[in-house]
Amino acid sequence: MALVEAYGPAHSRASSGGETRIIRMGYGADELYTRWSQKSLAQWKEFFAATQQPLFLETGVLWMGGDGDERLRQTSKTLKRCGVTFEELDRAGLERRYPQIAFHGIGRGIFEPKSGVLMARRAVAAVVEDSARLGVEYRCAQAMNPREAGRVEHIATSRGERIASGEFVFACGPWLGKVFPDVLGLRIFSSRQEVFFFGIPAGDTRFVAPALPTWLFQEDLVYGMPDIEGRGLKIAFDEHGERVDPDTQSRIVSPAMTELVRKYVARRFPALKDAPIAETRVCQYENTSNGDFLIDRHPEMENVWFVGGGSGHGFKHGPAVGEYVTGQLLDGAPAEARFLLETKSTTQNRAVY
Ligand SMILES: Cc1cc2nc3c(=O)[nH]c(=O)nc-3n(C[C@H](O)[C@H](O)[C@H](O)COP(=O)(O)OP(=O)(O)OC[C@H]3O[C@@H](n4cnc5c(N)ncnc54)[C@H](O)[C@@H]3O)c2cc1C
Repeated sequence: MALVEAYGPAHSRASSGGETRIIRMGYGADELYTRWSQKSLAQWKEFFAATQQPLFLETGVLWMGGDGDERLRQTSKTLKRCGVTFEELDRAGLERRYPQIAFHGIGRGIFEPKSGVLMARRAVAAVVEDSARLGVEYRCAQAMNPREAGRVEHIATSRGERIASGEFVFACGPWLGKVFPDVLGLRIFSSRQEVFFFGIPAGDTRFVAPALPTWLFQEDLVYGMPDIEGRGLKIAFDEHGERVDPDTQSRIVSPAMTELVRKYVARRFPALKDAPIAETRVCQYENTSNGDFLIDRHPEMENVWFVGGGSGHGFKHGPAVGEYVTGQLLDGAPAEARFLLETKSTTQNRAVY
């Protein structure tokens, strides 16, 4: 088995290339993703224990929304049904526990104490390292788009190699549309996403877990994390940015987003009103039309598979995706209709958050 990667595991242009990614169980009424998160967290933990790398941080995850927030209500129902440990907090409870947050417009919260943060870039590197131990051959090269219809015998690489295999899985994240422009060019929307880290005041422990968990302001589409590894408070807008090319987009944050984020931090975390921006990242989501993953066979190449469409929430699900793909490839397991190519439209209509 060979793993071919164009730029190196979790390089800084990959969607998985950030230091941290949230793993949470809440998905509104979407039980499928709640169950996949549960399964994935157990597998991540098992993998980190086996490889002796503490790459999951149990910061807890706090959802916040208005009194009438329908998604929070549905999240609570689904979490109960799936047996997830969580706590519901009213406004007074939130204020008592998190005095460093300003709760304008917030009526209630859901706290998942067992959820948290995956150290993403390092987790990917650990997976690649472990796969080499298990006999997978790793090559740094760009896989060229196969052209023949029917059964594909070889894939050519940018280094002039030809790799033969029974099955080819293209898990190319935001590059899927570039590798398969005819089929996916209009079905994968790579959107620019800017991430900021605000330096916390010296000696201030209010922005470190457990005082501050990982947090999501549901209706504002804003999320962030406590100070991890001294990078500062992480914050990002979850709204989709402009369409970008993952190879060439600028990795410098824009003045407009900087201004927006600064204002937001001042509103929600008043003690950080004048905090310096200590670090920034620019990444891209690899969105499908509605946010459901894309896991399916190429319509004309019978042994070529697409695996991707993480749509800004895919990292946590890595283990469950791996298990599902293995079932599809090796055991002919039944397919989940939501992941099929035929359900992917060329216009965006986000439904999964
Ligand atoms: C800012 C940001 C925040 C996010 N937050 C979260 C979060 O909190 N929780 C969460 O669960 N998810 C989150 N996500 C989403 C998650 O990170 C992605 O869904 C996930 O990392 C996608 O992984 P991937 O392997 O599909 O894509 P990638 O990580 O982009 O990997 C694809 C790889 O394919 C390689 N490649 C492409 N073309 C070729 C080729 N032709 N030949 C060889 N190699 C090739 C690329 O070099 C790349 O390394 C976030 C994403 C972003 C950008």
